[in-house]
Amino acid sequence: MPELPEVETTKAGISRLLKGRWVTAVKVHNRKLRLPIPIDIITTLEGQTLLEITRRAKYLLFKFDDGFLIVHLGMSGSLRVVSSLTPKQKHDHIEIEFGHTHCLRFRDPRRFGLVVWTSTNPATHKLLSRCGPEPLSNDFNGKYLHSLSRSRRVSVKSLIMNGQIVVGVGNIYASEALFRAGINPNRQAGKIGLSRYLKLGIDIKTVLAEAVAAGGTTLKDYIHDDGKPGYFRQKLQVYGRKGEPCSVCGALIKHKVIAQRSSFYCTTCQS
Ligand SMILES: [Zn+2]
Repeated sequence: MPELPEVETTKAGISRLLKGRWVTAVKVHNRKLRLPIPIDIITTLEGQTLLEITRRAKYLLFKFDDGFLIVHLGMSGSLRVVSSLTPKQKHDHIEIEFGHTHCLRFRDPRRFGLVVWTSTNPATHKLLSRCGPEPLSNDFNGKYLHSLSRSRRVSVKSLIMNGQIVVGVGNIYASEALFRAGINPNRQAGKIGLSRYLKLGIDIKTVLAEAVAAGGTTLKDYIHDDGKPGYFRQKLQVYGRKGEPCSVCGALIKHKVIAQRSSFYCTTCQS
């Protein structure tokens, strides 16, 4: 599943190619995504100039003259910019042509992604209005996490993966940040003290910033903006390493399902 660093990498890649260009044609091949592609998207987009692409949580916000195209990659979605002459691939659901040369294609085999339009401020859209702060912003830190965790009985891993608490901390990065912070992912969120949350806040920011700098970690469905598979294997210390020795202490990495998600941790280094 594309996580925040993959979405950020996608944003940077396609911004560079498309910003300032105008839409000359739109083709919709399959409207049935998590939310249906609006029926009037073709007439809405044609003739508009793409002013800017920003990201909020894992949503990409394409700012046009008259509003915003909101795109989410879901479980298996990808965006590629290709030549308009490149043959369409299976699972390419919408194509947006810019100036007869550049074609933005949204591909999503599992169709959990979405492409919708809003003519108002996207922050007030129902998809985005309840999102917590961005993990790399100044609004998020360990003190904030600590204050929201009091009296919560969920695991600390569930807490940091809750998008209403903080957005964009997916399973891989939650596992890695908890390892760095030395916190066992099973621990009850409300029973962890401030000093440990302060460290965790920094570790969440660091692990995400490193992944953004590396261009996103490895994921089998992620396709880079130039059409080539964009797998930048970030060094993961626990995620996906069940049974391998811990890089710090040599104990074997444990695997357990917490809140329906695979969790990897070292019982010696994390308490
Ligand atoms: Zn260890």
